[in-house]
Amino acid sequence: PRTTSDMKTLTEEVERFAKGKKLEIETLKVRENYRKEFIGNVSHELKTPLFTVQGYILTLLDGAIKDKKVRKKYLNRASKGVDRLIYIVKDLDMITKLETGDLDLYIEPFNLVELVEGVFELLEMKSAKKEISLNFDKEYAPIYVDGDKERIQQVVTNLIVNSIKYGKKGGTTEISFEELENSKIILRVNDNGEGIEKEHIPRLFERFFRVDKTGSRREGGSGLGLSIVKHIIEAHNEQIFVDSVYGIGSEFSFTLPKSQEILEEETDASLLN
Ligand code: ADP
Repeated sequence: PRTTSDMKTLTEEVERFAKGKKLEIETLKVRENYRKEFIGNVSHELKTPLFTVQGYILTLLDGAIKDKKVRKKYLNRASKGVDRLIYIVKDLDMITKLETGDLDLYIEPFNLVELVEGVFELLEMKSAKKEISLNFDKEYAPIYVDGDKERIQQVVTNLIVNSIKYGKKGGTTEISFEELENSKIILRVNDNGEGIEKEHIPRLFERFFRVDKTGSRREGGSGLGLSIVKHIIEAHNEQIFVDSVYGIGSEFSFTLPKSQEILEEETDASLLN
């Protein structure tokens, strides 16, 4: 026969089981909402360029195709719309890989100064269009860090592209490096652009978050750039920071470890001296 204490244990077990199930259901609900929201955001982002492209094609089919000049203009615009779609899909692909942990990092030592120089070259045209000067002290000696070079290049590119997009005409983007006490290197991207109001700062790294949706779209933004940046830096177990004053400018910075190989070489050299 069952004793009172047996019954108590049984009741406790049932309660524990029910609690576990409730938690499981809640987690599933959160995941399901997350998925729905993601799909909603994605289709919304794709809709605008798709309708633009369709608009140009329909106008061409409607007769505009006969005029050589108009034809070229509309095809060019349609092609720009397709470029934008490709760009969004690539960003989505990256974010999915980063969020599901399907992106392997290839860690190697590389010169961060050289990487920034390369990004400056790639963005020369973009910055010139807005008369923004990209600056950094050419006297920097090589700074070797450990990281996935390709991904870090993407981080640096996204941050500098933002400083141009949200920078004011004729402004400046300044890159600087500093070695911290814990053998980390911090890279800072400073701009004197529009800055960000305090209330928006906590949400900046959320995917699809944009302070000004229209402004961002006009600049070709998808609202995914900063969340990709954050994921990549966190996958390196490093940190990303933002400091911004509305109307004055912003600073985005991140850390990377000084290359272990170079550190060992330095130690060996000092032992020899
Ligand atoms: P987007 O594709 O819209 O640029 P991001 O994820 O890169 O998306 O950035 C999110 C939002 O953060 C931007 O829409 C913009 O409002 C704000 N932002 C990012 N970088 C800067 C900056 N350097 N200056 C001012 N605002 C910025």
